[in-house]
Amino acid sequence: MAEQNFPTGNLMKGKRGLIMGVANKNSIAWAIARQLAAQGAEIAFTYQGEALLRRVGPLAESVGSDILVECDVTNDETMDSTFATLKEKWGKIDFLVHAIAFAGKDQLAGSFIDQTTREGFKSALDISAYSFVDAAKRASEIMNDDGAMVTLTYLGSERVIPNYNVMGVAKAALEACTRYIAADLGPRGIRVNAISAGPIKTLAAAGIGSGRHMFKFNKAASAMQDNTDPLGVAGAALYLLSDLGLSCTGETHHVDGGFHAIGMPQEGPLKEAICD
Ligand code: NAD
Repeated sequence: MAEQNFPTGNLMKGKRGLIMGVANKNSIAWAIARQLAAQGAEIAFTYQGEALLRRVGPLAESVGSDILVECDVTNDETMDSTFATLKEKWGKIDFLVHAIAFAGKDQLAGSFIDQTTREGFKSALDISAYSFVDAAKRASEIMNDDGAMVTLTYLGSERVIPNYNVMGVAKAALEACTRYIAADLGPRGIRVNAISAGPIKTLAAAGIGSGRHMFKFNKAASAMQDNTDPLGVAGAALYLLSDLGLSCTGETHHVDGGFHAIGMPQEGPLKEAICD
C-alpha cells in the first residue's frame, strides 16, 4: 500500500480516538490508522505486549501519535490504565476502533465439535467479543456525543468457513454485541458498526488452517474475482467513523469484493482454485 493511496482531506480534522489492534504494518487496524490520519485524525494506540512495541512504536510515531499504551484486553488493570491515560491526556475522544481477535491455533483447524474445548471457547469469546463490550463501555464514558465506534468481523459468523470454527461463533457474538451497544449508545448520538472484511494477509489470518486455499477460493468466488484490499476496509472505517456515516448504526458492512453476495460462483476460476 503506497502512502498516496490513502485519500487525504479533513474529514477527521479535530477528531481524536483510540485504535486497538495494531500488531504490525500488515494489520487491518494499521490501514485504518493511516486512512484516518490522512484525513486529519489524532490517534492513540494500544499494543498487546512488549514484543509488539518494537513494531507498533515506530508506526504510531509515523502518524504523529504520542499516546501509546500497553493493553491486554483480558487484563482489567491495563484496560483501566488505557482509558485513564486517554482521559488524562485528552479529556474526551471521538472514536474507537476495535480490531482484536484471538483463538488458540488448536481451535482453528479440523472439525468444530472435535476441536472446540471449554477453555478455547471461553478465551475466543472473551478476547474477540466481550472485549468490544468492555472497550465500548469505557470509551463511551469519555466519548463526545457525536462519536463513533467500529469493530472488525468476518463472514465466518454467518456461514460455515472450514477451520474458522469457534472464531465464527465469536464473530457472531461480536456482531450481536455491536447491535446491542448501538442501541444503548444511540440516544447519545454515538454510532456503532462492524466491518465484515474479506480475507487479508495478516498475523491473525496466518493462524487459520488452510489459509492459502482460503485466499484462492475467495478470489475465484467473489463478485469482483479479487481479494479484499485493506484500502477498501480503511475507506469503510473512514465513512463509518466520520460525519459521512451519520444515521448509520448497528450495521455489519461487508467489504469483501462481494463474496458474501454470491450464491453460486462462476465455474471457470473456481475450478482452478479448487483443483490446484
Ligand atoms: P492482526 O494480527 O494484525 O491483529 C490482531 C490484533 O489482535 C493484534 O494486534 C493482537 O495484538 C490483538 N490481540 C489479540 N489478543 C489480544 C489481547 N488479549 N489483548 C489485546 N490485543 C489482542 O490481524 P488482523 O487480521 O488485522 O485482525 C484485526 C481484526 O480484523 C480481528 O478482529 C480479525 O478477526 C478481523 N478480521 C481479519 C480478517 C483477515 O482476513 N485478516 C478478515 C476479517 C476480519
